[in-house]
Amino acid sequence: MTLRAVFPGTFDPIHYGHIDIARRGCALFDEMVVAVYDRPLKSLLFSPEERIELVCTAFEDEARISVQGYRNLTVDFCESIGAKVLLRGLRVFSDFEHEFRMALANRRLAPGIDTVSLITSEEHTFLNSTTVREIASLGGDVSSMVPEFVREALGEKLSVARAAGKDVYNSLRD
Ligand code: ADP
Repeated sequence: MTLRAVFPGTFDPIHYGHIDIARRGCALFDEMVVAVYDRPLKSLLFSPEERIELVCTAFEDEARISVQGYRNLTVDFCESIGAKVLLRGLRVFSDFEHEFRMALANRRLAPGIDTVSLITSEEHTFLNSTTVREIASLGGDVSSMVPEFVREALGEKLSVARAAGKDVYNSLRD
């Protein structure tokens, strides 16, 4: 039987912390679907299509990782593709309460799906997409946090926003 896992998230944009969790998850499961959530309750920099494209590029060398967008409940998406495991990453202790509540809510909704959480690698502990967006919007160097193609996409996106007269820093908050 194929053990398929879903790694869901916003990925706005994908960074090395996400990539590390997906690749380590790949060693545990037969197949991994990185699922890009279409409309989270937070403000976004990249469109769903752009986020999906960046995630696809990040894993183009990994045959067992595929990428899909979704806009329904995460557990419904898992059921629709026959996935029994939800993969999540844990950084600092403050992530735990949120992840714990979500795992319990998801299990109430879909008892057949289990959440597996992987602890982040030490070097990615502080890393999240909000930090990447903030640093990039203030002209800082994010090359140790995201792959080159993400850094380029951030540069393009931010210069388009600036050219349109947007206050890029304040419009990027979650
Ligand atoms: P969400 O809005 O679902 O939290 P994110 O894109 O922020 O979406 O995160 C997706 C998943 O990746 C979450 O499980 C999150 O905990 C995990 N994650 C994010 N950053 C890191 C990191 N630096 N190390 C490990 N896991 C991470």
